[in-house]
Amino acid sequence: MRSLIYDIDNTLTPTTKHYFRELHRLLKHPKPVEELIANHELVEHVPEWQSHPQFGEEFQKLLYCGVTHAQLPPIEGSQAAVWNTHSRTPTAGYLTARPHTLTEVTEIWLRTHGFPIEWLPAYHRPADVDAKDANAWKADFLVERFPEIGGIADDSRGLPRELKKRGYRGKVFIVGSAEHPLQDEEHYIPCPTLDHILDHIKRSA
Ligand SMILES: [Mg+2]
Repeated sequence: MRSLIYDIDNTLTPTTKHYFRELHRLLKHPKPVEELIANHELVEHVPEWQSHPQFGEEFQKLLYCGVTHAQLPPIEGSQAAVWNTHSRTPTAGYLTARPHTLTEVTEIWLRTHGFPIEWLPAYHRPADVDAKDANAWKADFLVERFPEIGGIADDSRGLPRELKKRGYRGKVFIVGSAEHPLQDEEHYIPCPTLDHILDHIKRSA
């Protein structure tokens, strides 16, 4: 693998948990936020919020909010994991479904928290790609850039399906997962943490 690109949200930083906490503060909910986080994969899945008149607007604001994204903490140990992997397989940059308007915020965040960024691009979702089509956009990008970019580390459960549809031959490290319906040793590799990526690279060398 010549190089590896990284997703950001829920791969390097616990973005969805942060969205849960922000929306819980803004919209309230009878249950504690930690219980919502434990029981729902996405904020859009909380029934009481689906029917909440302000949910759509508040969630959209969060998705595009620079202050929110600047405040996110990195997942503990993620910088070290990225740098350790980088010493073996160079980092190609970052590929994120975040809107392009957050590019500068993201680059400052990566620099502030000590991720490799100075010489690397952070590709953000262009204005003409809808948020719901982000996985298809990422998949097209990865197919086009293979083999120069040989793989991605991404928490998305849906991205592997988009890549499989396109016959992608790179590696997909499915971060935060112990298993996945498409998993195989060669292309789709569930990685409970980012450290598992380097383990896999060493094993398959
Ligand atoms: Mg993600």
